[in-house]
Amino acid sequence: MAQLKPGVVSGKDYLTLVTAAKAGGYALPAVNVTSSSTINAVLEAAAKNGADVIVQLSNGGAQFYAGQGLKDSFQAKVLGAVAAAQHVHLLAEYYGVCAVLHTDHANKGLIPWVDALLDHGEAYFKKHGKPLFSSHMLDLSEESMEFNLDQCARILKRMAPLDMSLEIELGVTGGEEDGIGKELDTNSAADNSHLYTQPEDVLLAYERLSPIGHFSVAASFGNVHGVYKPGNVQLRPEILKNSQALIEKRHSTSAKPLNLVFHGGSGSEKDKITEAVGYGVFKMNLDTDMQFAYSEAIGKFVMENPKAFMYQVDPETDKPYKKFYDPRKYLRLAEQNMVDRLTEAFVDLGSKGKSLAS
Ligand SMILES: [Zn+2]
Repeated sequence: MAQLKPGVVSGKDYLTLVTAAKAGGYALPAVNVTSSSTINAVLEAAAKNGADVIVQLSNGGAQFYAGQGLKDSFQAKVLGAVAAAQHVHLLAEYYGVCAVLHTDHANKGLIPWVDALLDHGEAYFKKHGKPLFSSHMLDLSEESMEFNLDQCARILKRMAPLDMSLEIELGVTGGEEDGIGKELDTNSAADNSHLYTQPEDVLLAYERLSPIGHFSVAASFGNVHGVYKPGNVQLRPEILKNSQALIEKRHSTSAKPLNLVFHGGSGSEKDKITEAVGYGVFKMNLDTDMQFAYSEAIGKFVMENPKAFMYQVDPETDKPYKKFYDPRKYLRLAEQNMVDRLTEAFVDLGSKGKSLAS
């Protein structure tokens, strides 16, 4: 088994992680983080499970990291991502695991965000000889294929010299983030064909991007962002298998040439996760389930100790409540519950005990 130094991995080392996951039939969870507390919970869970992990920031998560009070929200989205990445660079190696630093969905309106992060990335590379982020993500699946691939090619040309990877999206994944949640809440579910990526589109992307640099593909196979009532959209992981097969045949590649990403992993049936991982999925995004785990623990604690959140000292017994309302008390419970939920994900994805760090 290949061995890597613990800490943030990128370039060749990131490819080593991806290759090992595909060959070993497991995938890494990519967990959306918003704060030092959630980042530390992800690193703690990885260390506890002897697993490598992907730490991921959406533009909103990055903005929250910088602070909602920062006036210029675009600047906050950029600086928050940089600050969070620096946090992970500093701490990850001490947790003894490999961490991939990723950004999440950037649609057309957020292309300037990715370009601004690459400005920081280029400066960081100059200074440290390694990239700030291992990979960024562009989701232009709602635009034309031509626009999508043109922008992906342009961005990847900027990233390749920095040893960075690009994740792209083809086909629309349903869910709140894409404004498709409402449609899915109705029971009609008439035509969901736009929720399934065509293997021919994956082939086009492969032919356009593989000469430029390393990339991964989030292909839609009926996945939905967020957790909804089940039954409206059928998960069809065989779309992933067919996409791999088409490229293998056309370009006489080795088996599973594509590095695939599973979006909207929260709430998915476990057998479909296993099937998708078997077709070359090395990364599964997890956001909603982690948010719930974090908040669930806080909710439980507040309900069990309601007076501690109304009085500093109990008006009847004079008991001081400092030990209860100290935010470290309930945030720690939140982190521990997130660690437990993420432990379950490592098991589901087969990545428990598979860390390449030594
Ligand atoms: Zn997506």
